[in-house]
Amino acid sequence: MKNADIVARDLKRVWHPCTQMKDHERLPLIPIKRGEGVWLEDFEGNRYIDAVSSWWVNLFGHANPRINQAIKDQVEQLEHVILAGFTHEPVVNLSEQLVDVAPAGLTRCFYADNGSSAVEVALKMSYHYWKNHGQASKKNFVNLSNSYHGETLGALALGDVALYKDTYQSLLMDVITAPSPDAFNREAGETEEAYALRQFAEMERILAERHHEICAVVVEPLIQCAGNMRMHHPIYHTKLREACDRYGVHLIADEIAVGFGRTGTLFACEQANITPDFLCLSKGLTAGYLPLSVVLTTDNVYDAFYDDYQTLRAFLHSHSYTGNAIGCAVALATLKIFRDDKVIEANRQLARCMADSVAHLRDHPHVGDIRQHGMTLAIEMVKDKPGKTPYPWQERRGLRVYQHALSRQALLRPLASVVYFMPPYVITEEQIRHLAQVATEGIDLAVRD
Ligand SMILES: *Cc1c(COP(=O)(O)O)cnc(C)c1O
Repeated sequence: MKNADIVARDLKRVWHPCTQMKDHERLPLIPIKRGEGVWLEDFEGNRYIDAVSSWWVNLFGHANPRINQAIKDQVEQLEHVILAGFTHEPVVNLSEQLVDVAPAGLTRCFYADNGSSAVEVALKMSYHYWKNHGQASKKNFVNLSNSYHGETLGALALGDVALYKDTYQSLLMDVITAPSPDAFNREAGETEEAYALRQFAEMERILAERHHEICAVVVEPLIQCAGNMRMHHPIYHTKLREACDRYGVHLIADEIAVGFGRTGTLFACEQANITPDFLCLSKGLTAGYLPLSVVLTTDNVYDAFYDDYQTLRAFLHSHSYTGNAIGCAVALATLKIFRDDKVIEANRQLARCMADSVAHLRDHPHVGDIRQHGMTLAIEMVKDKPGKTPYPWQERRGLRVYQHALSRQALLRPLASVVYFMPPYVITEEQIRHLAQVATEGIDLAVRD
């Protein structure tokens, strides 16, 4: 089979996510036949380094032998069983191990099957907690500007990225938006920490004035990934934790993208030294293999639902594939690789290599910012460097980088004008240097008129 055959059949029947399908009249769709490590290979033997971990999910490479084996072992035993009234060994083992590695105090695991659903679970649980405590007037949520929490209606309402949200605005619940600590917007000479503290003042004001009606604040700690990989200082979350405690408001940490080592620690919350009331995990939870998500919460939250049946205080939420046994077995294999290979420690060297490989771009006349938290690095192209003026989105400059990268054995998929690396942790230093070279060439091409 040739690439063209499968592409022609695809375009007759498949509707792709987040895609204007008409683009494929001129942009080739790339059919992947097999993967191995960081490599994706099409039907004609062309290969691409998966620098974006296939939408931020892959951790240990494609077709990883250890994870493949875990699936084979589990599928021979049990593929799936209803999780209401029944249980199974992988979900018990996984829950114990997640509690062991998560921030102290998170003791209960509630499962769903994708990131957006985990956010929905956290929202409903927080609201229901206050209701069970006789505070049904708490029904609002606070988010940050430029945030993203998924695309089902509740999660979409929580987000603030216009591209995904504006079209559907009239279907969405209202939320209270506080300004993001996004360090890109700090004044010249201002530290990231000082800027985060300055931005926090507005959050404090919102909580002081409206805490009676607020269930929870929802944040993406350290990196707003879908919001063009904007980053901020952890002090913001340390302050936020204190304020949430003071005002009696929950803190929901959406670590769906940043969890499992992307920011340099297993969870980003560790860098702020905090335990959220709800921790949402998905994506890397199964190392990019299967849809699975989990919300971890505290004994305090759990206890608010624990009562006689007739009180109707039980949490009401279920998905058919909740706690899927194969998904849980994969997540266990993922955690085992973190332990066996001391992945977080090993990544420090890779993160340094990523930083060094793009250092020369700091002086590039159209690079406005290079930022990094651990294993995530972003390079923002700007029209005008001193004023950090963005390129108009209609010009699709990032798309030029994407197209160039494909011709150079790399899958880079810029967000607007932001080129980023979020690679699987099995990438080598040589491969990182290749990506940096390709990104440099791509940026040079993209900023030409
Ligand atoms: C991807 C993502 C989600 C949504 O997860 P899906 O599995 O795509 O529904 C939610 N929050 C953040 C921060 C994400 O990056």
